[in-house]
Amino acid sequence: MPRRIPNKEIINPFEIAQQQLDQAAAIMGLDKATHEMLRWPLRELHVTLPVRMDDGTVRVFHGFRVQYNDARGPNKGGIRFHPDETIDTVRALAAWMTWKVAVVDIPLGGGKGGIICNPKELSATELERLSRAYVRQVGRVLGLDKDIPAPDVYTTPQIMAWMMDEFSMMQGYNEFGMITGKPLALGGSAGRDDATARGGMFCIREAAWMLGLSLEGGTCAIQGYGNAGTFAHKLGTELLGLKTIAVSDSKGGVYDEHGLNYADLKAWKDKTGSVVGFPGAEPITNEDLLELDVMVLLPSAMEEVINVSNAGNIKARIVGELANGPTTPEADVILREKGIYVIPDFLCNAGGVTVSYFEMVQNASGFYWDVEEVHQRLDKKMTSAFHAVHTTALRYGVHNRLGAYIVAVGRVAEAMRLRGWV
Ligand code: GLU
Repeated sequence: MPRRIPNKEIINPFEIAQQQLDQAAAIMGLDKATHEMLRWPLRELHVTLPVRMDDGTVRVFHGFRVQYNDARGPNKGGIRFHPDETIDTVRALAAWMTWKVAVVDIPLGGGKGGIICNPKELSATELERLSRAYVRQVGRVLGLDKDIPAPDVYTTPQIMAWMMDEFSMMQGYNEFGMITGKPLALGGSAGRDDATARGGMFCIREAAWMLGLSLEGGTCAIQGYGNAGTFAHKLGTELLGLKTIAVSDSKGGVYDEHGLNYADLKAWKDKTGSVVGFPGAEPITNEDLLELDVMVLLPSAMEEVINVSNAGNIKARIVGELANGPTTPEADVILREKGIYVIPDFLCNAGGVTVSYFEMVQNASGFYWDVEEVHQRLDKKMTSAFHAVHTTALRYGVHNRLGAYIVAVGRVAEAMRLRGWV
């Protein structure tokens, strides 16, 4: 959502996505037509959704589905339910999905969807009717060979199940593979639940190795305690030996220099709805959390939280962007000047869509893998994507985000050229 940054204008995330592409295009010497094609979504659908509320009244919601570029395969990307959603946030996120699937080299294009709503104010039955209403409108552009949605901010496996059911009813047969992030009982993949965080941990492991840093006992701060943030807390400890000293959510944050216990904090959040007030921890604001002197900082919530107003104060050694779009272009330059190693969003959080792709493959073949196989294949994908980006950034003498763009844009541009689009 466009944010107001102190002393700055509102920053439109789609303009940021376009600016990032423009920088990469200039460095790569991309031809004009390819560049212009990649600056815009191929197509987008705006929908209006009448939904009957529990009290009998009808409320009208607005939603979107953006199909950014499908040169490499069907569009893929999550659906967000958020009160501040706009067509431009969805466009930006669809662009980032295009780069994300290309950087991990899976045969998909980029898409994203969103509904302007506050799911926290809706009952489960209202949420179900809203989810089904969305599919009734957007279903005509979805499908195995066209566009495959998934969860994102405030959408869950249950919501995916309702959407899959509605779509299957429209077709007259079960089409489990039309959406990913489903519950296991309905064709979901083992390992999809923690895949975004796990993919990020593999990147952090590789980054630390390249930097000659030992992560064991290193400190970590996590902004955002949704799917990515909670699993990052768990896996940061289990896989990397990190000590998470601060976490926050939309209501506030908690800090404990001795480390926050994952199981206790997760139980507290499940019980109270927030990390705030966790017994034994001190309160910390979202702003202060970002500026903590930690080894690893994981922005895992929303866009543009690291911007020109605070980038100079960031002290982390590694920033792993589990959220989409947490750093503005100006902040990117500041972080690089400070020698902070940024693992850019569409690389760092690509684990989710990678396991979504594994889910599609399993749905198509009707043969399901065990969780070890998913983890192994995910590790291989993330590790090779990480090194492609790291090496490219070094070769071009640019920061990692631009390195990631050069890798991803190069792949999409090649597909468009081979198809004769440009
Ligand atoms: N919403 C996730 C993302 O931004 C996952 C997308 C997917 O699995 O298709 O990467």
